[in-house]
Amino acid sequence: METQKPVIVYRYHKGLYVNLTNRCPTACSFCVKHTWKMDYRGSDLDLRGAEPSPGEVIALAKEQWTAQPFEELVFCGFGEPTMRLEALLACARMIRNGRAEPIPRNVRIRLNTNGLANAVWGRNVVPEMKGLIDSVHVSLNTSDPAQWAALMRPMDPWKTDGFDKVKEFIREASLLLPEAFATAVASEGVDIEKFKTLALQLGADPRVRPLLDGEGGK
Ligand code: SF4
Repeated sequence: METQKPVIVYRYHKGLYVNLTNRCPTACSFCVKHTWKMDYRGSDLDLRGAEPSPGEVIALAKEQWTAQPFEELVFCGFGEPTMRLEALLACARMIRNGRAEPIPRNVRIRLNTNGLANAVWGRNVVPEMKGLIDSVHVSLNTSDPAQWAALMRPMDPWKTDGFDKVKEFIREASLLLPEAFATAVASEGVDIEKFKTLALQLGADPRVRPLLDGEGGK
């Protein structure tokens, strides 16, 4: 019996989305990866441990571009892309260096993230993204640290200082990258006005999105 291959790149709206990893330092209460059984609108995003190399990602992206150009490349998927920071940056570098042609060097590159990269890697990684990543969308969700921990359910090492690290990541991204958004899922009990105020204080544009069907990614 033929088994369906995991999807590494997939189309959504006008973007090409890259599924680099299923690993994640959080288990967000609103994540759909389990309720949707690792399927995102018809794409099986369960990598089954076989994370793609940058070369594989770029080869697939080139094929997709040739079939139909896309407006942006988005690192997203069912997992936190910055868990594979080196691979993510390598993909972006290949594009910027012209090694992914016919994809233009200046194609827009976006990262959707939970903002814990500085915490996970133990350093400020945002300068490494400069010139490579055009836009970051950071899933902040609230202005309240206790509510953040309840919504995002971080792994132990990041339970206490994770929220501060996410704020630091957003502040750095808003200073160093062309575009930084702080996002929130409109869920019960979240004070959206306070969330927006915090996002603006951190230098990011706030963006609120509705819950997806079955949400209880980014
Ligand atoms: S929503 Fe994104 S960051 Fe949160 S658990 Fe799911 S994959 Fe991880």
